[in-house]
Amino acid sequence: MTVKSHKKNNINFMRFEKTSERRAYAIGGAALLLGHIFYLIMFGILGVRPMMYFNIFSVAFYTVMLVLLFRTGLRKGLVMASLAEIVLHSCLGIITLGWNMGFAMFLLFIMPIPFYMPLKRLLTPYLCTLVPLTLFIVMRAKYGRLDTAMYTFRDSTLNDMIYFINTALGALILLYFSSIYMISREVMQFKLTSKNESLQKLATIDPLTRLFNRRAMGEYLKLIQHNSERTGKSYTVCLGDIDDFKQVNDSYGHGAGDDALKQSADIISRSVPAEGYAARWGGEEFLFVIPNSDVRDGRECAEKIRRAIADRTFRSGGRQFGITITIGVAEGKAGDDIEKIISLADKRLYAGKSSGKNRVINS
Ligand code: GH3
Ligand code: MG
Ligand code: MG
Repeated sequence: MTVKSHKKNNINFMRFEKTSERRAYAIGGAALLLGHIFYLIMFGILGVRPMMYFNIFSVAFYTVMLVLLFRTGLRKGLVMASLAEIVLHSCLGIITLGWNMGFAMFLLFIMPIPFYMPLKRLLTPYLCTLVPLTLFIVMRAKYGRLDTAMYTFRDSTLNDMIYFINTALGALILLYFSSIYMISREVMQFKLTSKNESLQKLATIDPLTRLFNRRAMGEYLKLIQHNSERTGKSYTVCLGDIDDFKQVNDSYGHGAGDDALKQSADIISRSVPAEGYAARWGGEEFLFVIPNSDVRDGRECAEKIRRAIADRTFRSGGRQFGITITIGVAEGKAGDDIEKIISLADKRLYAGKSSGKNRVINS
């Protein structure tokens, strides 16, 4: 049997690769740009000049960021720069409008973000966290009272509105970075799983025939022998070797030989019952094993394969040719040594070769 390919994850995380990740960052940058345009208009209407000027700077800052995002691979630097902008923005908001407008929320919400970044040293995110944390405490101590604010609004609804906007935007920034982190973690996981699966396949599958290789079959045979001891049921081991294959190579070329091997492997793979296994045992040798079967079942399956291969017409460079296979069949019972059963199948295979080839020998 050829190994079934792994079930694909329901969400195709590979679609989030590179271009999509950059797009996700671009959407974040654009959202921050829009947010600052909104702040600029709001503080313009409210006449809070320092915040207006700072937001003009921020609008320019995020415009440059968006351009750089598409031009260079400075993603980590750009994220760090926007975190610095957010810290500056919230401090300036606290100094200008006082503690109660919710600007301090940004300092709290951005604290986990450095932990999502692929940083070289583990200590770095902790050090990064110290900046907003210290500023949060210092700002609270220095600007914690209402009378320190440069601008105050009499309208408490307006105060509440700004507080809510700041809190909601701070939370959105954290949610945004958390989402990107979650997606890239899933992409990584998906890639690792696929890589592991393909490495495992490389180690167990013969690349030409897509059948199990000898090493993998060795493991299955041990398992089958173990199961047979447990259930008391017998199994059959069939060892086949293509007849006069050297001649096929010599007459039609190595490529045609490879093609004939592939097609023979397909026939074997399709003919072995679902609970059985087939492997490329050597150059033009195949071993297949049928659990819970006796020598008659084994012979029947081997005979089916022998006939199908003998009936197949192979083509190469406008010429046609046929090949045959000789198969030795041996039955293993509970308690039998698997090596001895393989060796018995091998003896029968060579008995078949000496008695004229293109036959199945089971006794
Ligand atoms: P017999 O009937 O006794 O088995 O004769 P034979 O010619 O098949 O046996 P022999 O062992 O003399 O030759 C086996 C040939 O199989 C020689 C080798 O070049 C060829 N062979 C082994 N692996 C491959 C392969 O992967 N591709 C191709 N094209 N040929 C292969
Ligand atoms: Mg041969
Ligand atoms: Mg051989």
